[in-house]
Amino acid sequence: MLVTGKNLYFDYCALIVMTLIILSILLKRMTRGRTNRYFLLLAVVVFFSVVYDICSIILDNRYGESTDLRYLTHMCYLIIRNLTAPLLAVYTICLTDTWHIIRRKGKLFLSALPLIAIIIAVLSTPFTHAIFYFDNHNVYTRGPLFFILYVSAIFYLFYIILYATAYIKNIGMQKYFAIVSIFPMQVVAMTVQYYYPNILIEMFLTSICALLVLFIVQRPEASIDLTTGFLKASTFNSDMKNVFANKKPVTIIFITTTNFDIIRDLLAYTGTSKLIKVLASRINKINMIVDTEADVYNYESGKFRVVFEEPDFDKVEIFAKELKKLFSSNIKASSLDITLRANVCIAKCPDDIKNFDSLVVFSNEFLKLDFHKEILTAQNLFKNSDYKILSKMEKILTDAIKNRSFEVYYQPIYSIKQKKFISAEALIRLNTEEFGFIRPDLFIPYAEESGLINSIGSIVLEDVCKFISSEDFKSLNLEYIEVNLSVIQCMNIDLVPLVSGLLNKYNVRPDQINLEVTETATAYSQQIIHKNISDLNAMGISFSLDDFGTGYSNMIRIAELPLSIIKIDKSMINTENNPDLEVILTQSIKMIKDMNLEIVVEGVETESLLGKFIGLGCEYIQGYFFSKPLPRKDFVKFIMESNEK
Ligand code: C2E
Ligand code: CA
Ligand code: CA
Repeated sequence: MLVTGKNLYFDYCALIVMTLIILSILLKRMTRGRTNRYFLLLAVVVFFSVVYDICSIILDNRYGESTDLRYLTHMCYLIIRNLTAPLLAVYTICLTDTWHIIRRKGKLFLSALPLIAIIIAVLSTPFTHAIFYFDNHNVYTRGPLFFILYVSAIFYLFYIILYATAYIKNIGMQKYFAIVSIFPMQVVAMTVQYYYPNILIEMFLTSICALLVLFIVQRPEASIDLTTGFLKASTFNSDMKNVFANKKPVTIIFITTTNFDIIRDLLAYTGTSKLIKVLASRINKINMIVDTEADVYNYESGKFRVVFEEPDFDKVEIFAKELKKLFSSNIKASSLDITLRANVCIAKCPDDIKNFDSLVVFSNEFLKLDFHKEILTAQNLFKNSDYKILSKMEKILTDAIKNRSFEVYYQPIYSIKQKKFISAEALIRLNTEEFGFIRPDLFIPYAEESGLINSIGSIVLEDVCKFISSEDFKSLNLEYIEVNLSVIQCMNIDLVPLVSGLLNKYNVRPDQINLEVTETATAYSQQIIHKNISDLNAMGISFSLDDFGTGYSNMIRIAELPLSIIKIDKSMINTENNPDLEVILTQSIKMIKDMNLEIVVEGVETESLLGKFIGLGCEYIQGYFFSKPLPRKDFVKFIMESNEK
């Protein structure tokens, strides 16, 4: 087939498009990570294909150029042009995040065969004239085997479609369609150019394909956090889902700043972003010095994640040590000097962490606990029994709710004036087959975060109501039972009907129940909390303020609540070696009394403490000195015996 008089307009357009694409990649610094690097390589290859295409055509159109030079440029064009489809295949594999699978299967060589065949055919064409040659009039002419270039391209394009379809879950619909739509565009381009060799549309349509990928697939703003330049939390989640789906081995360093909330409150938005920027630039420096190809993720709220693929474990350890140093040094941001506290933990996936759900529990639940001293490893953490419980907490709690396996214990509260026990605090206990007793401190926060506290709270309240309505309780002559009410319960719009429903069902008078709320309940300044508390109070239920002295003890907020009792926290009562604390304690007691509120002192373990609070005029005492929380039966027995005396 004779080819002459081609025009270059489409190629010039392609050149402009490709230049813009490469510039945008470089300006957006999309050069880190395998996928980004292959996209850049692909763009460069397409760019040079256009350049060589233009050069070879210019040389063809000029009369009397040396045949050697023309052979060389055409060969360069054909080789580099035919690299695009295989490279696009490699890029697609990167997108699906399945390199490790391909490599393991060792099929890479097989897939490279068509490309190798083409390169050999093109390189030998000056002697064989199989792909192209210059005819008697020195005109570029396609050889008998020219079609194999198309066969190879079609092979790779099919490969891409099949691969993308197999891993469609990994790349998502939008990206999938962008990748797959390259196929028809290339087929159109190749068909047009095959039948009308003078219309050089192939490179132009290829550049449009590249543009499509740039706009739809390579969107850094979708995956990169602008403040730090690190990958976003959402990207971490989707990347990790792929890691587990594809059984790809990775090692992750988790960095969790445990005092971040406080720092954010102190520094406000601008200060916090400055701090995060300083941290990010230091982390980048570590990444450079340690010389790893790690991906760093900014996982919200002072948490970072560093992910290594098939790493040199020594390097991971050095990286973690440097991070530990960084997060335990004081950081200067603007003119402030900030002390961070952070956990740094190394985990291997899927060896240590088996699936995505465990990863979520691991990073969200466990690492917010304080373990600052050393670098942690997942292996060590798993030995910690709290972790074992936390990682199964959802199931433990839902099972316990379903089977009603919670138990309510009662801790007697002693009245100094009446010299007998007049009430008790209901405290929940969870006994499990697998882990034995689980501390409320461990499961209540989880129950609050997951919303399960609402069901648990109603179970406790129902149990208490049942107890109050029992003959046992009547014979004890107790005035009321104190029930803990978590903030989340206070925010529940169904709280009031729930409580009044239970009181009615068991025939319990409202004054037989006292609800304990903490000061934080008022600190959230949620209207619903105030409404619930005042509605319940209007029904005749009294309220205690729990844990006085542990929060900020904002007296104005406390004064706004319809309280009858303040419970002084156990952390506040041991003032032996601290005269200042003693002043705070005695003055607080005086102030509470002046507000006409009664006082329960919690955590009284010794006789001397009992004597002290009697001296200070407190009304009620609760603590191990009298009794630990007891199961209902033991509690009944205890009160019968004690109050008889
Ligand atoms: P809290 O409301 O401050 O309960 C008092 C805690 O102090 C109880 O711990 C009790 O066993 C313990 N305590 C009592 N006297 C002494 C003492 O003399 N010395 C010491 N060292 N400790 C004493 P417990 O039962 O482990 O409960 C821990 C927390 O779990 C409770 O603190 C409360 O915040 C929460 N909780 C317990 N039951 C419930 C419940 O039914 N609902 C809700 N929302 N929270 C509950
Ligand atoms: Ca309490
Ligand atoms: Ca308390």
